[in-house]
Amino acid sequence: MKLSDDLRSLMKPHVASVKPYRYITPPEASAEEAHLPVDRIIKLDGNENPYGCSPKVRKALEEYSSYHIYPDSEQRQLRERLQEYTGISSELTVVGSGSDELIDLIMRLFVGPGDTVVNCVPTFGMYPFSTQSWGGRILNVPRNETFGIDLDATKRAICTGAKVIFIASPNNPTGNTASVADICELLDTPVMVVVDEAYYEFSGKTAIHLVQEHDNLVVLRTFSKWAGLAGLRVGYGIFPHWVISYLTTVKPPYNVNAAAQLAAIESLSDLAYLAGTITSIISERQRLLEEIKTIDCFKPWPSEANFILCGVSGQDARDIYLALKSRGILVRYFDTPLLRNYIRISIGKPEQNKALVAALREIC
Ligand SMILES: *Cc1c(COP(=O)(O)O)cnc(C)c1O
Repeated sequence: MKLSDDLRSLMKPHVASVKPYRYITPPEASAEEAHLPVDRIIKLDGNENPYGCSPKVRKALEEYSSYHIYPDSEQRQLRERLQEYTGISSELTVVGSGSDELIDLIMRLFVGPGDTVVNCVPTFGMYPFSTQSWGGRILNVPRNETFGIDLDATKRAICTGAKVIFIASPNNPTGNTASVADICELLDTPVMVVVDEAYYEFSGKTAIHLVQEHDNLVVLRTFSKWAGLAGLRVGYGIFPHWVISYLTTVKPPYNVNAAAQLAAIESLSDLAYLAGTITSIISERQRLLEEIKTIDCFKPWPSEANFILCGVSGQDARDIYLALKSRGILVRYFDTPLLRNYIRISIGKPEQNKALVAALREIC
């Protein structure tokens, strides 16, 4: 049956112009392409925790006996534990199916067709994706030459009547943090400021304490990166009091499944173990940065997250990306106007990072 234009006209007009999100290929597909078994794949393209989740999580998920019962829609137990972890009241805490869902819920509250969202580029691809899927318009403000926020240009962009600004800190893919002073300047403008701290545990820097004093600040965090729960989808946000009541009315009731809630709770009871993996990743980050610096065609940027952005000169970054891929080593490759010829490498285990460096020396 031929689809009639009458049916197509029922669809919201803005949907036709949404650019799809560039998601990462699952390792099984890359393994097949490289003709390697999947356990030989070195996955350094998703900023995941190479050590996986806490052993306590695995055990609790195995022993849990209520998978047939709907999960707690208000995530009471998890929000109580988060209050201990963040020091911020559980009343201001909302849990989502990954922080991606919270980004989308923020759009649901603030952004409709024609509304503007300010984005300090280069940054995380979810902000334009989510904005466009709600019919909003993204206003990109380029960061400065060291990837810091251009405060004056950003404030001018906000003054065009923007609804929301997103600041990832540490920023993905550049690895640098935004200063609290810069965030405070943005908080003085009439816009919702969303500080995305997906990599907080690797930087130790946060704006979370400012939420109680500012009616326009939201801080987002996730269990995907530091706690190794990317596959279970669980993130949280700290919201100003006045937003909470609206947010809970639009939040899908069972958005966070029982396994995800349990895994997050267990992660928070195994902080010593997780701190160990974070410490290893941070020390490998420094070691890898020094190693990459010694390879001629690479300019690695310092990072406060669990990945390193590298500019490539004298060689095509795409060729390096493909040569690594054929060896079963996966990294992210960028070729955009602001990131021409770059790759981003997530920090792996020491032996994975060694394999990466050996391969890079061979290729470059
Ligand atoms: C990975 C990432 C997220 C997504 O986190 P989920 O909780 O897995 O949805 C959010 N923000 C930034 C900047 C990220 O890099």
